[in-house]
Amino acid sequence: MTNAYTTPGLVCAHHHLYSSLARGMPAPKIAPHNFLSTLENVWWKLDAALDHDMIYWSAALGAAEALLSGTTAIIDHHESPNCIEGSLDVIHAACTDIGIRVIPCYGVTDRWDNDGKLQEVNTTSPMTQGAELGLAETKRYLLSDRPAMVGVHAAFTCTDETLDTAAHLATEFHTGVHIHVAEGQDDRDAESRLQKYANDDWLIVHGVHLQKPIAGTIVHNPRSNMNNAVGYARPAQWRNRIALGSDGIDSNMMSEFQLAFIAGRADDISFSPDLAWNWLFNGSQLVPDTQNDVVTWNYPHMDSSWHLAYTTSLHVTDVSINNEFVLFEGKLTKVDLEETRRKAEEQSRRLHHALAMSE
Ligand SMILES: [Zn+2]
Repeated sequence: MTNAYTTPGLVCAHHHLYSSLARGMPAPKIAPHNFLSTLENVWWKLDAALDHDMIYWSAALGAAEALLSGTTAIIDHHESPNCIEGSLDVIHAACTDIGIRVIPCYGVTDRWDNDGKLQEVNTTSPMTQGAELGLAETKRYLLSDRPAMVGVHAAFTCTDETLDTAAHLATEFHTGVHIHVAEGQDDRDAESRLQKYANDDWLIVHGVHLQKPIAGTIVHNPRSNMNNAVGYARPAQWRNRIALGSDGIDSNMMSEFQLAFIAGRADDISFSPDLAWNWLFNGSQLVPDTQNDVVTWNYPHMDSSWHLAYTTSLHVTDVSINNEFVLFEGKLTKVDLEETRRKAEEQSRRLHHALAMSE
């Protein structure tokens, strides 16, 4: 049944569930001064400290909060360079326990040398052991026949051999590559290395500094782009399908839609909320089963982008996936939210402690 209080399930087309534990993290000792130093001093330290318990509870918390926001599918991009094997199973288990759909990938990269130290990548060098392990984890998961993609961190942290192997693995398993492209200036020439591989199954994440067209769905993450001061991606300039992602900020896709509209308006006064609304629901083409999911909201105009662009205090009351309620009258049906938060907080304390020890 559909009515003006309901929408199909929303899709987060680019997430990092592991970032759920970043909340409350102490500020880095070295304040980031640009995008690359944000990666080096925050995210690449955090992902290196992850273990299975942290991965499970960060995914569980992110998945729980996704359902509370009406998101019924997460296309996740995961990295945990010191805990690669089995990591995609852990994410799948956490999401299944909460009751949400997940399409995971492992983001392979050569930015860690074979001694585990951060390195600048020489594109003609052989693939690192870390990238090999990431691809092996990907293949192992793909062989289980669950929906998944082949993850690549970004062209600028990968050798040519790694890009080539990842692209071929995706073709072999009839899926796409999920990759950050031209998010910051450091990755400006990504498309020149990727164009020969990319196809419509690929997820081209960010594309802020794309110079030329490239095949694939472009995933726009306006909140993350503002947070990292990388610039406005102006996705309307491309003919590609555009979808929305949160890039790990959270799973609240209605908020992402609202900011996609505002960011569009900041660039062009004629930008219509209908355009950002289309981007939001293009996610359902990536995970077609979500079209049958039913999200019930506390607001009677859920079919009007002009209402929703300006309406705050939207709440989800019920979510059903595959005709089963996973959220009913505001409560998760499969797990206890407070317990999930408590367990995630325990793991975030472990993570923050590990980060403090590593400095
Ligand atoms: Zn990302």
